[in-house]
Amino acid sequence: MDMPDKIVILRLGHRPQRDKRITTHVGLTARAFGAEGMLLASEDKKLADNIVDVSTRWGGDFYVKNNVRWKSEIRKWKDEGGKVCHLSMYGINLPDAVPEIIQCDKLMVVVGAEKVPFEIYEMSDWNVAVGNQPHSEVAAVAVTLDRIAEKDPLKNEFQGGELTIVPEKCGKKVVDNRG
Ligand code: SAM
Repeated sequence: MDMPDKIVILRLGHRPQRDKRITTHVGLTARAFGAEGMLLASEDKKLADNIVDVSTRWGGDFYVKNNVRWKSEIRKWKDEGGKVCHLSMYGINLPDAVPEIIQCDKLMVVVGAEKVPFEIYEMSDWNVAVGNQPHSEVAAVAVTLDRIAEKDPLKNEFQGGELTIVPEKCGKKVVDNRG
């Protein structure tokens, strides 16, 4: 298939006081757009549990691994044949990298918060810009996962959730699957 069938996000530099909301949004966006989980290179178990709670409510098997050591996770991933795509506004523009990226089976997408260690640039297979302008890690994750997907990620379905939205022209219809 012409897209990675296993995608994980590695979130670097998360500061629990400052980045709570944006890291939560990185995780939820990654889940919604087809990643299987997020590795959090900081200690914030509460945040990790919150994301998993959302996943339980809305379906799927998204996981968050709290407090990982980024270097050993990247090494392990590469040893197992995975590729690493670091999102940085300084990188190669995404449309130019997509044809190569979609050839790999296992993709780790790395996003920063504050300044990213230079080693990340060196360890990554691709340093990729979602346009060479500064914006947000949430937008960068969403656009990347959308651009490398074979099937439209907005059509993703999530099984086993407690709640399912029934799309409506106007209003909010939610089915409670707990009976
Ligand atoms: N000042 C930081 C630096 O120089 O590395 C970047 C801060 S930025 C708000 C946080 C993260 O968003 C970055 O590490 C990167 O992963 C992502 N990001 C922001 N703009 C991006 C872009 N245009 N392309 C790809 N990733 C981007």
